[in-house]
Amino acid sequence: MRLRKGAFFSLSQEAAPPMIVERVPVGPFQMNSYLAGCGKTGEAVYIDPGAEVERVIALASERGLRITKLIGTHAHLDHAEGAAEAKEKLGVPYLLHKAELYNLKNMPEAARRYGFPAPPVPEVDGFLVPGETLSAGELTFEIRLTGGHAPGNVTLYLPDGEGAPGHAFVGDSLFAGSVGRTDLYMGDGAVLLEGIRTRILSLPPDTVVHPGHGPETNVGIEKETNPFCQPGGERLLA
Ligand SMILES: [Zn+2]
Ligand SMILES: [Zn+2]
Repeated sequence: MRLRKGAFFSLSQEAAPPMIVERVPVGPFQMNSYLAGCGKTGEAVYIDPGAEVERVIALASERGLRITKLIGTHAHLDHAEGAAEAKEKLGVPYLLHKAELYNLKNMPEAARRYGFPAPPVPEVDGFLVPGETLSAGELTFEIRLTGGHAPGNVTLYLPDGEGAPGHAFVGDSLFAGSVGRTDLYMGDGAVLLEGIRTRILSLPPDTVVHPGHGPETNVGIEKETNPFCQPGGERLLA
């Protein structure tokens, strides 16, 4: 009987959360790097390799995660300054939306403006195409374009399943109580709010939102309380 009980217990442990998420705020901009890994296979994506690459890689191995892809939500300095280093250390591809190549190549100039040393500009190994998916173990993320802060800012969406909420990694489009700035290269307030409304706020309300800066939130909370997400929110960006 005991043996059976033990076996049952270990079976129920297998129904662990399907995705392991780690948020690591890094560098002077406190940009959130994320590890999103499959709870079954341990395969993970490293979203936005910015500063403190070694710390994120160490955390991955501590959590038993094997990073197989580097994903850029977009290529502003804080989100991509560690991409070359992470590629070299992990030997895995770096994927980005095509429209972010300008920002990627502009990183040294952006760094100079902040008085920081220029980071190496990495080669991009593949493009993130909205409407397509990418996988990590048994997780499948949808790629959604949520521009307006940066032209190729993408949201990675993991749909909900079996009672677990979905997850959206949104880059710098939507934050808890705010939205991304629109005064940088190709910034556009109308595009930003349109993308947020149609491609993030249209998701189920319990979808967990993981922004590029600050704490996590969810779709329902932002829909109800974020001033930029209310009718006429455009006026706040004018
Ligand atoms: Zn940004
Ligand atoms: Zn940022």
